Amino acid sequence: MFMEGVRKKEKELAQKLAEGEIQLHKLEEITDSKTAVMTRRMFIEKVSGQRLDGIGSSTIDYDKIRNRNAENVIGAVQIPMGIAGPVSVNGEYAKGDFYVPMATTEGALIASASRGMKGITQCGGANVRIIGDAISRAPLFELESIEDSAKLSDWISKNEKGIKEAADSATKYGRLKKMHTFILGNNVWLRLAFDTGDAMGMNSATIASETVSEYIEKNFKGAKLVAVSGNMCSDKKESYVNELLGRGKSVIADVLINEEVLKSVFKTTAKKACNTNIKKNLLGSSRAGSSKHNAHFANIVAAIFLATGQDPAQVVESSSGYTWTEERGNDLYISVTMPSLEIGTVGGGTHIATQYEALSILGVQGVGKVPGVNSKKFAEIIAAAVLAGELNLICALSSRELGKAHTELGRNKKKD
Ligand code: NAP
Repeated sequence: MFMEGVRKKEKELAQKLAEGEIQLHKLEEITDSKTAVMTRRMFIEKVSGQRLDGIGSSTIDYDKIRNRNAENVIGAVQIPMGIAGPVSVNGEYAKGDFYVPMATTEGALIASASRGMKGITQCGGANVRIIGDAISRAPLFELESIEDSAKLSDWISKNEKGIKEAADSATKYGRLKKMHTFILGNNVWLRLAFDTGDAMGMNSATIASETVSEYIEKNFKGAKLVAVSGNMCSDKKESYVNELLGRGKSVIADVLINEEVLKSVFKTTAKKACNTNIKKNLLGSSRAGSSKHNAHFANIVAAIFLATGQDPAQVVESSSGYTWTEERGNDLYISVTMPSLEIGTVGGGTHIATQYEALSILGVQGVGKVPGVNSKKFAEIIAAAVLAGELNLICALSSRELGKAHTELGRNKKKD
């Protein structure tokens, strides 16, 4: 009886949508979130002529994501989540063995990361260090002339205290750490970099940058804000500025894989793996004009981002970086350098039930005892997982195993 009542209400609302009497995004203003989502889905079912039962099956609390995570919601998409590991991590914040949640539809990916993690763990674990931690926004100002650009640059360096006070007044957790000025003719960018505690921090950094921009426009005559994000930030775009100055967490990880493990786990030698890395990741990427001197950071980063509620578009810069190998006798030394890993354990999609649970597998859900500790631990675990992914793929390529693994696990041809 109740369901009939609800469906009647949805049908009436869906009809009003079809007739243009109400707009898709206005539904929550006239009914509760759940009914709004069901009504929109019913409307899209009618428009497309398709049943959308799968999209409608979700545990998401629509009230909690309203005005926070998505608009015009009709349900949710489901991606398989698997577990890689355990991987042993010797970080400053992450210490111990971790099972890593990864969401993907690429068969063989989780198995690949797991084999890398097995090798790392057998060799004493991944050493990880965070060498930078600041999320950036770069407002762009236009001026009358190059003379004014030079004057503004000089003014900024003399008024760092005022700029910092303006920035820090805007958010509770965001703290301005660094600033860099860039000039192109009569245009000036001020790249502001913030500590944002456990949050990835893009909203906090943007709000603080707007406050700084108002302060500059008020106190420096002739500076006119073009955009609070002037692309020198650089958000969701590949860029050398992030490579050089860092963005989010800058993380490095390494491990020495001994000859025995190379042979038993990876079926290769240090010489073969090293040659593959140098010729593929360094030479190949250079010849291709790619700044990504790695085998597949993006695979590991994207799968962990999807599982844990990170902003998936930030895989672009979070997956840039370098894989370096050396032959040490018959052992293989391997390191990864990730200049701009943009992650958080609060904010964004991290509060959604399944993503929050995935973070809890790693013990990094929500805020840390001290602000920032959880997100740093999380960054160290991701770097260890990325190291595992690089190690395994380089070894698999050097022993010509890649196609076989993908045929078995990516095309359902594995003999059980
Ligand atoms: P957010 O959810 O907007 O803000 C984090 C919230 O958590 C703040 O209200 C903060 O309080 C609070 N908080 C509580 N404890 C904290 C702790 N220990 N550390 C840090 N914050 C704590 O998240 P955000 O990280 O700033 O922004 C992420 C979102 O921005 C994502 O949804 C992403 O998709 C989106 N995004 C926005 C832009 C943009 O241009 N605005 C660009 C890219 C992505 P206070 O407010 O008091 O500090």
